[in-house]
Amino acid sequence: MKLISACLTGCECRYDGKSNTVQSFVEMVEQGEAVFICPEQIGGLSTPRPPAEIVGGDGEDVLDGKAKVITNTGEDVTSKFIKGAYEALRAAKLAGIKEAILKESSPSCGSAKIYDGTFSACKVTGNGVTAALLKRNGIHVSSEETYKLTSSS
Ligand code: SF4
Repeated sequence: MKLISACLTGCECRYDGKSNTVQSFVEMVEQGEAVFICPEQIGGLSTPRPPAEIVGGDGEDVLDGKAKVITNTGEDVTSKFIKGAYEALRAAKLAGIKEAILKESSPSCGSAKIYDGTFSACKVTGNGVTAALLKRNGIHVSSEETYKLTSSS
């Protein structure tokens, strides 16, 4: 069983109310091979919502209290991103999940790169908050960009 970012499975849960549907991931859910979750929604954020970026570091730093998640209107949504990450971890543990496929570049789900906190479309190396927490807890995280390259299944 795998955990997949909800927006990759057709859920219109992105900040702008759209999805990032990848048909092969939809089929994984249909076939009972995966479940989906949106950490930002389960953390208490509405959809649509203002875009947010990590300021002062990456998801590891957010978990360690060294960086914040801020919207483009200046609202601090750090606590909701952290809550969503822990809820995603709880779901993964309950289901015995050891592998996640998360949307690249998201401040929650990114697992190799994230936006740099300036809202200028620039990306830097780093994990989103949920990806960082799942990795810390021994869950293998790939993205829609790397899944076929890194998965053995
Ligand atoms: S938090 Fe993750 S699942 Fe939710 S919309 Fe953003 S990238 Fe998709």
